[in-house]
Amino acid sequence: MERLQKVLAHAGVASRRQAEKLIMSGHIKVNGAVVTELGTKVGVHDKILVDNVPITTETPVYMLLYKPRGVISTAHDEKKRRTVVDLIEDVPQRIYPVGRLDYDTSGLLLLTNDGELANRLTHPRYEVEKVYVARVTGIPSNDAMRQLRQGITVDDDHYAPAKSKVLSADKKKQTAIVQLTIHEGRNHQVKKMLEAVGYPVEKLKREQYGFLTLKGLQPGESRHLKPEELKELK
Ligand code: URA
Repeated sequence: MERLQKVLAHAGVASRRQAEKLIMSGHIKVNGAVVTELGTKVGVHDKILVDNVPITTETPVYMLLYKPRGVISTAHDEKKRRTVVDLIEDVPQRIYPVGRLDYDTSGLLLLTNDGELANRLTHPRYEVEKVYVARVTGIPSNDAMRQLRQGITVDDDHYAPAKSKVLSADKKKQTAIVQLTIHEGRNHQVKKMLEAVGYPVEKLKREQYGFLTLKGLQPGESRHLKPEELKELK
């Protein structure tokens, strides 16, 4: 038996805190009766409804994908473009990405049907370090790199300090490869940060998500997380 709010969060209904609110405000029925008691325990045979819609309690699945460029990071796309979910075969559960990578960004993306873990990992307080490698136009000055390390404000948005270094520079082409480590996950964050200090991104890849890397995968390939990886992530 598990606490009702935990089961709701696991099913991807909401975060655990939000699930508690749903329970207290009378949105949840268990076996036909509204339950507002937070300590309620439920088992696999209990029928749980959210606003009269049954939740799905599928076996949790955790996938690590090397997202190629030119694929969208949502489960569905109105324009019918290829999505990251289309790339994962042989997983019958309905999974969705944890956070997003831009259409033209490649790299490491987790996908799961575990709503609770997804909520936690995408919360800035959880501080998963994400390592990005960007090719930028121009060769970043020491001052630009210092600004990134100190944290910058772009259009009223403040971005926390990012570990930043220039990995290589091509003087002839006037481009450089820059590594940036951030723990937030705001829209187009790396592109905005680099653009703000004067070096627009030409190409972007996420190489690491916490301790997880792309080792052994080619673009478009995915694998299940190993039990020990999952344990460390949780
Ligand atoms: N930052 C970006 O600008 N784009 C991404 O896809 C991820 C982080």
